[in-house]
Amino acid sequence: MTKTSDVLVIGGGLHGLSAALHLARDGARVRLVEQAYIGRHASGVNAGGVRRLGRHPAEIPLAEAALESWRAMPDLVGDDCGFKPSGQVKIAENEADLELLTQRAAEVRRLGYDHEEIIDQATLRALIPSVAEQCTGAMIVRGDGFADPYRTCIAFRRAAEAAGVMIHEGAALRTLSRTGNVWRAATTTGSFEAPEVLNAAGAWGAGLAKTLGDPVPVRAAAYMMMVTDRQPYFVGPVVGLASRKLSLKQMGNGSVVIGGGYEGKADLESGKTALDVQGLAKSAETACTIFPVLRSARLLRSWAGIDGEAADRIPVIGRGRRHDGLTHAFGFSGHGFQLVPAVGRALAELIRTGTSSLPLEPFSPARFQEKSDG
Ligand SMILES: Cc1cc2nc3c(=O)[nH]c(=O)nc-3n(C[C@H](O)[C@H](O)[C@H](O)COP(=O)(O)OP(=O)(O)OC[C@H]3O[C@@H](n4cnc5c(N)ncnc54)[C@H](O)[C@@H]3O)c2cc1C
Repeated sequence: MTKTSDVLVIGGGLHGLSAALHLARDGARVRLVEQAYIGRHASGVNAGGVRRLGRHPAEIPLAEAALESWRAMPDLVGDDCGFKPSGQVKIAENEADLELLTQRAAEVRRLGYDHEEIIDQATLRALIPSVAEQCTGAMIVRGDGFADPYRTCIAFRRAAEAAGVMIHEGAALRTLSRTGNVWRAATTTGSFEAPEVLNAAGAWGAGLAKTLGDPVPVRAAAYMMMVTDRQPYFVGPVVGLASRKLSLKQMGNGSVVIGGGYEGKADLESGKTALDVQGLAKSAETACTIFPVLRSARLLRSWAGIDGEAADRIPVIGRGRRHDGLTHAFGFSGHGFQLVPAVGRALAELIRTGTSSLPLEPFSPARFQEKSDG
């Protein structure tokens, strides 16, 4: 039997869940289809960074709104999702790096934001005594931090279901077509109908958008992560670098989670990834250069997660151009976790009213077309 709803969400990652939750709380009947299980891909396996630091200017208003929600997460989903406002720093390894960071902080101040602050070498060392001597300073964003990704997925799922969202796992979308004002979706476990569809299919979102007349340059990226054995406490804030790939944090149990952008290979057909051992070695080497205490640490596990990465590295969020009743939200380019609570709210507004109180124009699926049109 065909299952009906007001909105059909494709994708059970955090963006699909968050939008579904907000829509249901606004009174919509919502169904969500997920080809595997909730949190199977980027949303469940990411680094958990809750970061405003270094955001593209277009993302700053969303990231600011999202941080407010992270601070009040128990009110939204009944759990703090493991959020720890440990601060985030981007470290300069030389004077040129520090100059780069200083210019960036000045640019962000000119835009009217003051969250990015430059600290000198002495202040950095006082904050993180274990940092290598060559580091000359940093940019810090106090109030940023990290959370537990899988726990966040579970919390959003529970809240969404409590609000009435019907979740269908193991239901892969096969075809989607519109007749009159209704979308008809065929999935591996049955048919669905709804006047509104939200494409929140992560790295698979661009393929779906293309079939619906909204081609966008978004590729599948398999970002790699690794975790060490437990170490004595040596760093509080989440650490990145000004000009090299690194994201590093020490968890409450002492283990160290390292990522930052080295990629493996993604296979969208199977949903599987292959690791690039050389990339992992470079990542480990970078971590040890910044924190010599890590030289004796043992790597316990490595993995990769698949996210859609847009050519301009900001997400695709907005209404479809070819069809009514279609909204896209995918291609979060390796930094969509922090944005989840704000984007979900904005999507619910957009789907219900056609506009949003957050500035979504820079993320429009049409932006690439407009550029190529000149
Ligand atoms: C290793 C890694 C580290 C990261 N670190 C950070 C970080 O520290 N901070 C940060 O802010 N962001 C980070 N990110 C990015 C963040 O995880 C993602 O941007 C975000 O989770 C994307 O959420 P999503 O809901 O769009 O996609 P996903 O979580 O990928 O969800 C999309 C879902 O759609 C489903 N789907 C696809 N096609 C279909 C179909 N045909 N039918 C049904 N279901 C379908 C998929 O199975 C998937 O579960 C990281 C990402 C990775 C991979």
